[in-house]
Amino acid sequence: MEVEIATIGGYEAVGRQMTAVRAGDDVVIFDMGLNLSKVLIHDNVETERMHSLDLIDMGAIPDDRVMSDLEGDVKAIVPTHGHLDHIGAISKLAHRYDAPIVATPFTIELVKQQIKGEEKFGVQNDLQKMEAGETMQIGERTELEFVNVTHSIIDAINPVLHTPEGAVVYGLDKRMDHTPVLGDPIDMKRFREIGREGEGVLCYIEDCTNAGRKGRTPSESVARRHLKDVMQSIEHYDGGIVATTFSSHIARVKSLVEFAEDIGRQPVLLGRSMEKYSGTAERLDFVDFPDDLGMYGHRKSVDRTFKRIMNEGKENFLPIVTGHQGEPRAMLTRMGRGETPYELDDGDKVLFSARVIPEPTNEGQRYQSEKLLGMQGARIYDDIHVSGHLREEGHYEMLQALQPQHVIPAHQSLKGFAPYVDLAENQGYKVGRDLHVTRNGNMIQLTE
Ligand SMILES: [Zn+2]
Repeated sequence: MEVEIATIGGYEAVGRQMTAVRAGDDVVIFDMGLNLSKVLIHDNVETERMHSLDLIDMGAIPDDRVMSDLEGDVKAIVPTHGHLDHIGAISKLAHRYDAPIVATPFTIELVKQQIKGEEKFGVQNDLQKMEAGETMQIGERTELEFVNVTHSIIDAINPVLHTPEGAVVYGLDKRMDHTPVLGDPIDMKRFREIGREGEGVLCYIEDCTNAGRKGRTPSESVARRHLKDVMQSIEHYDGGIVATTFSSHIARVKSLVEFAEDIGRQPVLLGRSMEKYSGTAERLDFVDFPDDLGMYGHRKSVDRTFKRIMNEGKENFLPIVTGHQGEPRAMLTRMGRGETPYELDDGDKVLFSARVIPEPTNEGQRYQSEKLLGMQGARIYDDIHVSGHLREEGHYEMLQALQPQHVIPAHQSLKGFAPYVDLAENQGYKVGRDLHVTRNGNMIQLTE
């Protein structure tokens, strides 16, 4: 059987992930993501109303025109998890394929919400839920399997396409967490089995985000302990404490909510995406928040809540807000600019349970946000965080478990691939032979 990989997006930068695998006549697409920084750099771009081709030209969504060179029928579109760089282009591209979108329940729900917000295209693809550990027949001799992985969002999986030539494992995005705060540990046992059963692994597509960092990525339980330590240290502070994190990082939000209560403060989630992700996770029973936890997204209800906090005393509350990257329209940035009823005083604490995404726009915006907060007297607690991506030792472990015949580095720029190439060559792979460094829009034929 011919097996071919189309590297469509995410092979020149992080963002707008998309890869297609053809096995015989059957094609499966993994991820359809958005590169948000290409959108945000323009003022007031409303992607909801934009045409796919304009977004492709901006570099915001994958240029899937290369799909016409792939002979076969698309049988499934499979987003691995709910981050925008993996699902953000579904509403712009999926309608061009007569195939269902297959994902885990939390991811499907986020895809559903995204399609609902789409104003240009009618996206009618079937939405099919599949849990980690389950399989689905794709063609006569091909099968799709979801393996549970751990990442900075719940319900993440690595999809595996089983073919008669061996398995194609799509390895974006994960860290190896054996003690996650929410959900099950990564299923390394299954990866090892896949590496040894049948024809083994034909190809492994790997997320190189942290390949240049030595050692191992700590577990989410380490970030949780770090956060607890910070919050206990300010337990007796009688002024304002504000926290921010990735709104899609439900495990972290849960820790913040719990520790707020531990130090005698009422947690409250503020900002549109805080309400969206936490509300969805709670509705689907992925997390158990206190019954009286307030979540407010609309400007008016947020401002009303801030007024209530000021009236009843800042020392009784812990607002958990959007704005960890200094996004201009996010809640924390508005607080820094003094645009909300919440008044910061000298010595008030602002906890960033996040790391700045190393990209000039983010770095600039975050700098500005921190300065504005600082000018009002706020004290900054930075980097209470662990990454969601594998470092060096995790990469070695994956190669060991899967023993793939071919490896394709992904989810990075050419520069970002370099450390992974070193690491894989250490393990006996060779660029140009079985280690395929590629760019967006290429085809890699694995078997004839
Ligand atoms: Zn991700």
